[in-house]
Amino acid sequence: MKDQPDASAVYKPSDDFVANAHVDAGAYAKMYAASVADPDAFWAEHGQRIDWIQPFTKVKNTNFEFGKVDIKWFEDGTLNVSANCIDRHMITRANQTAIIWEPDDPKTPALHITYAKLLEETSRMANVLKSVGVKKGDRVVIYLPMIPEAAYAMLACARIGAIHSIVFAGFSPDALANRINDCDAKVVITADYAPRGGKKTPLKDNTDKALLHCSDRVKCLVVKHTGDQIHWIADRDIDLRQQMDWAKPYCPYVEMGAEDPLFILYTSGSTGKPKGVVHTSGGYLVYASMTQQLTFDYHDGDVFWCTADVGWVTGHSYIIYGPLANGATTLMFEGVPTFPDAGRFWEVCAKHKVSQFYTAPTAIRSLMGLGPEWVEKHDLSSLKVLGSVGEPINPEAWNWYNTHVGKGTRPIVDTFWQTETGGHMLTPLPGAIPAKPGSATLPFFGVKPVVLDPATAKVHDEVETEGVLCIADSWPGQMRTLWGDHERFQEAYFAQYKGYYFTGDGCRRDADGYYWITGRVDDVINVSGHRMGTAEVESALVAHEKVAEAAVVGYPHDIKGQGIYAYVTLMKGVEPSDALRKELEAFVRQEIGPIAKPDLIQWAPGLPKTRSGKIMRRILRKIAENDFGSLGDTSTLADPSVVDDLIENRMNRH
Ligand code: ATP
Ligand code: MG
Repeated sequence: MKDQPDASAVYKPSDDFVANAHVDAGAYAKMYAASVADPDAFWAEHGQRIDWIQPFTKVKNTNFEFGKVDIKWFEDGTLNVSANCIDRHMITRANQTAIIWEPDDPKTPALHITYAKLLEETSRMANVLKSVGVKKGDRVVIYLPMIPEAAYAMLACARIGAIHSIVFAGFSPDALANRINDCDAKVVITADYAPRGGKKTPLKDNTDKALLHCSDRVKCLVVKHTGDQIHWIADRDIDLRQQMDWAKPYCPYVEMGAEDPLFILYTSGSTGKPKGVVHTSGGYLVYASMTQQLTFDYHDGDVFWCTADVGWVTGHSYIIYGPLANGATTLMFEGVPTFPDAGRFWEVCAKHKVSQFYTAPTAIRSLMGLGPEWVEKHDLSSLKVLGSVGEPINPEAWNWYNTHVGKGTRPIVDTFWQTETGGHMLTPLPGAIPAKPGSATLPFFGVKPVVLDPATAKVHDEVETEGVLCIADSWPGQMRTLWGDHERFQEAYFAQYKGYYFTGDGCRRDADGYYWITGRVDDVINVSGHRMGTAEVESALVAHEKVAEAAVVGYPHDIKGQGIYAYVTLMKGVEPSDALRKELEAFVRQEIGPIAKPDLIQWAPGLPKTRSGKIMRRILRKIAENDFGSLGDTSTLADPSVVDDLIENRMNRH
């Protein structure tokens, strides 16, 4: 058994931390009550945290009724998001670093981009976009590595009112083409190559392949980043850096309505065909900036590092829009956690004196497997707050993060949210809400979580309960629609539980009112009438010292209704055996109870994951059901070859 935190343990921030925090326990209680009692008054006040051109007079105008879903915030206000992230800081922060750029290769010097420089580069790029005919409302697809140009591109689009849609640089030509076509983009911005972990992805080549399936009118702006040779199509391709050098260093910003779209972002595709989530300007920025400041307790002078890629919503809200709207210093990292060695994250924290560090459980688990010595080598004394996002963090990984990275003294914020929500929904505020390992704790301001019975759709009023997680009322960061398909939007999020936004996730609420995400509702299994979240069984398996990672799904079982099928990846050097299989069964039985004992355990050298590191359980379900003929959309899979191995060695061959 690895060392485990006490399941009932509560971790409180230190008195010093609380004394300096933006929000303490008393303030949280008061503000939360106000935010749900009178959202109009609450958000009228907090809507002032950004700069408006025309101030809003209306605050909330939202309807969750199926068939009439309509979400508007600050609807008559006007603003420009790029001006909020750059221009408004020019008087006080022109020479402050806005973005620290840490390249893939640690031998390449890092860049410190000031707000003044950010204004100049963003303006130059905006002028290039204008010169190729991009206008307000046009779509621009961004397919770039984690380089400063990605930030300039986002802010340049926002500046001229174009709608960006970022496609993660690890995606294939097909995935890129689908997204360019779905949003009917006028321009794609790419680079020659994306260096990551010492390897190079041929982005331009991928874009060339993608554009074979798109309209001839799509222009291709290319950043020559590595300088390697690329194929060039004279009428279509434009050297972006060269054009930026020639462009004017200032571009005025356009006045946008609060409800004008800022970006489209396709979800990661863990559960099905990616959906084009639309976020608008005013409400999104208010929510992203407020959550960045309060969830991480960001203070002036801090260095904020979110390790996500800008291709995910986490990168949008917590590398770019939230921090920059707050005048923060945000770190952008081109590389991976294990290059040139498994200490890279911690080396970067020490090098740039990172104050807040925000990453995903998948990264923590993989680093945990490589040993704590990689962390111990580096000076992590600058860290104040640690964050987690993307999936439930199993207590095992929480404990490792707390002990080795946080040295047992830094608050950990486990933030539950979605591409659809724009910003954090359930999260501790570090000076206000004590943490419990594995719980996303309590709602952020304005968020009204409800737990419903999945079968009857009845709201569970009692504090201690379990069911599906819905949200009863709108918050400013909420998505407004799916691009070009408002009907699918309503079907996906408002049809199942009438009057509520349905998250798709299951949860438990404990006696203290804390929320524990138990995984996607699709992932709940029903064994002999007992409902169980797959996350729980996975956590039990991962707690075993020989297990590195586990994924659990249900499969049809003659007697129990559903049986438990576990895919288990063993620690480096551990050999699979029938004895170990028995040992794991007994271990889960002892940890959770006889009902949770896996019926089938398959040794899995690798698990099918999305590019964002999430396990695609729908594929594992198909294999467990012995129905692998149609695996559905696998275009967002990081390594498709693991699927063949799993099919080959499947355990259920009825
Ligand atoms: P798709 O919607 O295309 O299937 P996705 O849901 O993986 O993809 P995201 O919006 O990136 O795309 O992820 C949101 C989901 O991630 C949540 O619905 C939840 O299942 C999970 N999640 C995120 N943060 C947490 C967290 N802190 N604790 C538990 N689960 C989390
Ligand atoms: Mg989702």
